[in-house]
Amino acid sequence: MVIDVKCIFCTRGKNEAGLLLSGLEGHICAYCIEQAYKMIHEEDSQTKKYGIFHHTKSPKELKSFIDRYVIGQEEAKKVLSVAVHNHYKRLSASLEIDKSNILLLGETGTGKTLLGWSISRFLNVPFTIVDATILTEAGYVGEDVESILTRLLLAADYDVAKAEKGIVFIDEIDKISRKSDHPSITRDVSGEGVQQALLKIIEGSVVNVPPEGGRKHPDKKMISIDTHNILFIAGGAFNGLENIIKKRLNNRFSSIGYKNCIQPQYCHSHTTDYLQYTTPADLRYFGLIPELIGRLPIITHLNSLDVNALYRIMIEPKNALIKQYKKLFAMDDVHLKVTDKAIRKIVEKTLITGLGARGLRNMCEKIFNDFLFYIKNFQGILEIDENIIDNKFKKYFQK
Ligand code: ADP
Repeated sequence: MVIDVKCIFCTRGKNEAGLLLSGLEGHICAYCIEQAYKMIHEEDSQTKKYGIFHHTKSPKELKSFIDRYVIGQEEAKKVLSVAVHNHYKRLSASLEIDKSNILLLGETGTGKTLLGWSISRFLNVPFTIVDATILTEAGYVGEDVESILTRLLLAADYDVAKAEKGIVFIDEIDKISRKSDHPSITRDVSGEGVQQALLKIIEGSVVNVPPEGGRKHPDKKMISIDTHNILFIAGGAFNGLENIIKKRLNNRFSSIGYKNCIQPQYCHSHTTDYLQYTTPADLRYFGLIPELIGRLPIITHLNSLDVNALYRIMIEPKNALIKQYKKLFAMDDVHLKVTDKAIRKIVEKTLITGLGARGLRNMCEKIFNDFLFYIKNFQGILEIDENIIDNKFKKYFQK
């Protein structure tokens, strides 16, 4: 008896299909194998090309990844992980969910940019940082707001589709606040003017950008970029915002009977701790225009870094400074040892500078530079203890 063998996917018979592979439960023809291969390959290359975030990766996984680079800042990490997860979930499922751009408040050197950078690394999407202070309204000295997208395009190797799913970190957003206390005759081209221009790209629109940057020019070739799916993270120190918040809290409590005193729980707060009570109204009072605040619906804050946090930053992250110096010395066969007390001393001195973790590198440069210069004089182990650090500080700071 001749059995009529057919492909279980397309029902082609042996004559039509040519090759039929047999499995446990049936057969598959060469045509269906080829189609399946194409589908798998296409999806794989799309994922590689656009770094499409699989929302199966949970916010917790994203946070664990950030933990490798960013010390502390638990609240901000959680808020960001959920926001970013939702953002890319929205992309992959084409959901009609509003974009979740983020505003990060916190002193300089607390890890705002580092957070943005680590997220982009996890997601494998293009990332760019722009300093808001260099932006001006179109036609004025400075850079047009569209230059942000040119940079993103560059980070995406001029792959427009990739750039359209990237992350833009706008640093020093607080420096373009409305200069309401200077109602001068000149226009506010680097304040409210820039905020208005930013609005257009942040809320999502198709923007023509000059591929190699610079000013827009009628004869220049332009590239259209759709900004609907670009995630914008804005960061700033917002110096002075804490006073606005303090005042608001004070008024609230005095209106219910506490005179000239804010609630005890707020009384001992460090400056930046007030930032956790930020409301959109405070930001408006500070000088951000309401439309822009509305486009940055997720607001979170970063804590100022204390001695312990700075100490951990010196040794724990994947690319911690002490690890980097150890590698540098090891390349010349010198085993660098930095004692615990020495690290604490570096940290204490850095804390005074008020530069946050940003100041640590500078401190380390000062300490290790001479040793690196004379590296050939050392053999075997080089131990840096607190006395060496003390002497270095005498040299730099007590002249
Ligand atoms: P910000 O954007 O808040 O001014 P950055 O993110 O640029 O500060 O931080 C400057 C440098 O300080 C980073 O490159 C990193 O080495 C270090 N740093 C700052 N905050 C942290 C942190 N919380 N954890 C680890 N490193 C940090």
